[in-house]
Amino acid sequence: MLLVHKYGGTSVGSLERIENVANRVAKVRDQGNDIVVVVSAMSGETNKLIDYAMHFTQNPAKQEMDMLLSSGERVTAALLSIALQAKGYDAVAMTGRQAGIITDTIHTYARIESIDPSAMKQAIKEGKIVIVAGFQGVNKDGNVTTLGRGGSDLSAVAIAGALKADACEIYSDVDGIYTTDPRIEPKAKKLDTISYDEMLEMASMGAKVLQNRSVELAKKLDVKLYAKSSFSDNEGTLITKEGNNMEEVLVSGVVLDKNQARVTLRNVSDKPGIAAEIFTKLADEGINVDMIIQNVGIDGSTNLGFTVPGNELENAKKVIESFDHDIGSMDFDNNVCKVSVVGVGMKSHAGVAAKAFRALAANNINIQMISTSEIKISMIIDEKYGELAIRMLHDAYNLDK
Ligand code: ASP
Ligand code: MG
Repeated sequence: MLLVHKYGGTSVGSLERIENVANRVAKVRDQGNDIVVVVSAMSGETNKLIDYAMHFTQNPAKQEMDMLLSSGERVTAALLSIALQAKGYDAVAMTGRQAGIITDTIHTYARIESIDPSAMKQAIKEGKIVIVAGFQGVNKDGNVTTLGRGGSDLSAVAIAGALKADACEIYSDVDGIYTTDPRIEPKAKKLDTISYDEMLEMASMGAKVLQNRSVELAKKLDVKLYAKSSFSDNEGTLITKEGNNMEEVLVSGVVLDKNQARVTLRNVSDKPGIAAEIFTKLADEGINVDMIIQNVGIDGSTNLGFTVPGNELENAKKVIESFDHDIGSMDFDNNVCKVSVVGVGMKSHAGVAAKAFRALAANNINIQMISTSEIKISMIIDEKYGELAIRMLHDAYNLDK
């Protein structure tokens, strides 16, 4: 098999841990596999480099930041290769450029445009273990670029896609994706399998395990993705296409998002163009709107509710206050959270939402807003009930079974 392994910052956070990764990679090699290893910078390293730059200015040039930050991953790649060679394995370390990763020119947040895998393929053919510095590529001008924070996951998925690898395994200090955050509900269970779409909907929970952009790319390129721990030999979670048997599972997980604030606009003129104007202005300020709810208008006016990240509420307020027309009054609340129930099985089963509402009602938790997609039900509730709601929902759908 041809495997792509990606080891995150914690997994390569010290020389002992790099040695541990070298042993794991050697074992996979001994089992007769070809392997490409993508690595992150040692944990804390990227932040340290950012701090170094900030010593001189709050606003360093992005091209120089890419030059600086890309070095963290190179250190790990070289050390892992050296560690493997010391054990008698044939290995070669490559930068993003050497691995053929071509990006656009947006420094510090570049997108991968294409990959020329010929150098990696040649090295594999020569029997080498290929180690690639993650998080980086090169643009058409020959300058080094980086792919945004957490971008090594994206490197790994893109490389797995370009090499048509049998699987892409992302190693961190967590052994997979759970039905909910085990710190909130100790009965949370590790999932064997989850679909790409469910994973994307559970993003806020999975963020520490898998970068969201990499899941989107895996879906697009049809890469079989595993989330595993480098500190155990546990199975991990497979993130893959939606399979037939997945529908039998009604709900895969429940997620809490505390970083939410609610905005409600009352007596909004019920005429074409108002929503367009409000949300264009919010977007122009870079405010990420999440849920949006509007009801049918009565007597020429309507109410419009939406949520924004808590730290963007002040900005959102300013935008709304700048309207001297068409909005009657506004009301906002930073002490809310969003609880979501996620599962592909909802598409084909009735009563999933009703069950969630009953679970909250039984605990006297008031639901302020509701929104749904094909595979998700989200509810805005008082922040102080967030964790309780998660436990009640986890129980209602028997996720511990
Ligand atoms: N080292 C980079 C970061 O800390 C990329 C990564 O680890 O994936 O964001
Ligand atoms: Mg990461």
